[in-house]
This record gives sequence, C-alpha cells and structure tokens, in this order.
Amino acid sequence: AAKAGGRDRVRVFTPELRSAVRQKVLVAGELRDAIDAGQLVLHYQPVLHLASGEVKGVEALVRWQHPERGLLMPADFIPAAEQNGVVVRLTQWVLAEATRQAVAWDALGLPLVVGVNISAAHFATGTLVADVDDALTAAGLPPERLLLELTETSVAEDPLRAAAQFAQLRVAGVEVSIDDFGSGFSSLSQLVSIPAGLLKLDRSLIAGTRVRRSESAAAIAAVVGLAAACGMRSLAEGVETADQLALVTELGCTHAQGFHIGRPMPADELTAWLHRRASARTAEHPPG
Ligand code: C2E
Ligand code: MG
Ligand code: MG
Ligand code: MG
Repeated sequence: AAKAGGRDRVRVFTPELRSAVRQKVLVAGELRDAIDAGQLVLHYQPVLHLASGEVKGVEALVRWQHPERGLLMPADFIPAAEQNGVVVRLTQWVLAEATRQAVAWDALGLPLVVGVNISAAHFATGTLVADVDDALTAAGLPPERLLLELTETSVAEDPLRAAAQFAQLRVAGVEVSIDDFGSGFSSLSQLVSIPAGLLKLDRSLIAGTRVRRSESAAAIAAVVGLAAACGMRSLAEGVETADQLALVTELGCTHAQGFHIGRPMPADELTAWLHRRASARTAEHPPG
C-alpha cells in the first residue's frame, strides 16, 4: 500500500506539473513588473455595424511585449493572472489605456466605442464599478463609449452579486455585453435575466457553418431571435469569410467581427485602416 501510495505521489508531483505551477507563479510576478515597465500593449479589432456597413466600435485585446519571449498572447498569461489576482491590476491598466485611446480617436473625428474584456475574477472582487469609474474620469470619456465584455461564467459564479453589479454599471451608463455566448454550456435562463445590451455569439457557432451549414444557421438564428426578444443586439464573432459575413447578416446579426473584416492591430494601424476604408467607401459611393 505504501508503495502504491508512493507511486501515486510520484504521479501527482511530476516534474512537468511542478514546473507548470512554478511557471504560473513566475508569470504572475513577472506580469506585475511588466505592467509597471510598460510592456503591455493593446491591439484593437474592428467591429462592423451591419445595417450601416460602418465600423463604429473596436475590441481592445491585450498583448505582452516580453523582452525575451516576444509578443505573448492573452492565452499565455491571462489564465495565470486570473488565478493570482494580478488580473485586476492588468484590467485597471487596460481600462486606463483603452479609454485614453478612445479620447485620442475622438480628437481625430473617430468616435469609436471601445470594448474591454473583464475577467470573472475581477467581477467577483466587487471593485469593478469603481475601477471603471476611475478610468472614465481620468480619461474624460463618456460612459456610453465604453463596452464591458463579460462571459457567462462571471455571472454563473454568483448570480445575485452579478445582478447587483450589472445594475450599478447600467446606472453608471456603460454598455455591457455577454462574450463568447454558445461556447460552453450556455444557460438560456441566465441570458434572460442578464441586463446586457449586446450578445456576442462565440466563434465556434460561426465556424460550425463550414461543416453543418443548415444546423449551424438554425442555431445562430435561434440565439439571435432570443437576443432580440430580450432587447439585445447580437454580434457574430470569428467571421473569417465573405460567405459567413453574408450568412450572419441574413440571419439577423446586428454586428460582426472577425479576420475577414479586420484583424486586431495596434492603435495607429487601426487609425490608418479606418482612413483607408473611409476613402475606399467614398470612392464606391461618391457623395452627392
Ligand atoms: P475574446 O474576448 O473572445 O476575443 C476575441 C478573440 O478571438 C481574440 O483573440 C481575437 O484575436 C480572436 N479572433 C477575432 N477574430 C477572429 C477570427 O476571425 N478567427 C479566429 N480564429 N479568431 C479570431 P486573442 O486576442 O488571442 O484573445 C483571446 C481571449 O483572451 C479573448 O477572447 C479574451 O477572453 C481574453 N482577453 C484578451 N484581452 C484581454 C484583456 O485585456 N483582459 C482580459 N481579462 N481578457 C482578455
Ligand atoms: Mg471579448
Ligand atoms: Mg469573444
Ligand atoms: Mg474569449
């Protein structure tokens, strides 16, 4: 029995697992310093408003310009940050930077709504409303120009607390969306009870149209219908082809986002992208 137990123990504490745990702690500590050292950057992905064909919003997506490891993606460090509470610091930085950038775009005559991703861990701390308010005040951005993206998980953990915070955010005047809807075990009852203005359909729903087109289209149409009945707009994520863009438009999505429309890019590239797009549209439809 002792031998078996010993074997179990060996199995539990494999060198791989040990180093994975150490790596997580390391990343979190390193990330704290990285924020102070200015190593985080935001890329912005355009969001298309389908009825007008205009880009009226962007989603801010964080990257870590690591001095040795290069440009790290959220999947490389957000999970560790969420487990160590560093994600609150990170989000405060993202909120400050994204609202500042929105004001800068304003000055260029580009009044974009900027979306910021909020972790369930942050939602649970109860400081979110104050953190959002601080960022808006510091930047001087009207609240309706900020969109917070929350996943269902953040709501599922503590529905009552979530409802209270949603209500406060609503009073504060910021926009709220449900991100990645349809990625896991999405609860329809929860969706009905969440006072969000926008439902973002997970890209797996859109990707499904490649293999099982009519079934996937039916699922998208059902979710879009439910969102509309709840007074929510609906955004198709992960639109990668012209065919998918046409389909989600036909199915009643109000917004679309994806590589086919535009990839996430640094702020100055997005500014140039928007200007190029505006002149191309003017050439297509000359004014007057
Ligand atoms: P998300 O909020 O669902 O963001 C969309 C992700 O899908 C982004 O990945 C984006 O680059 C990717 N994407 C957009 N269009 C397409 C497409 O057409 N095809 C495919 N295959 N992918 C597409 P990214 O930037 O790697 O971010 C991944 C996730 O990390 C985000 O998913 C979000 O949950 C999280 N994240 C990103 N930035 C932040 C942040 O500042 N704070 C927090 N808490 N989480 C963040
Ligand atoms: Mg998002
Ligand atoms: Mg998403
Ligand atoms: Mg996601």
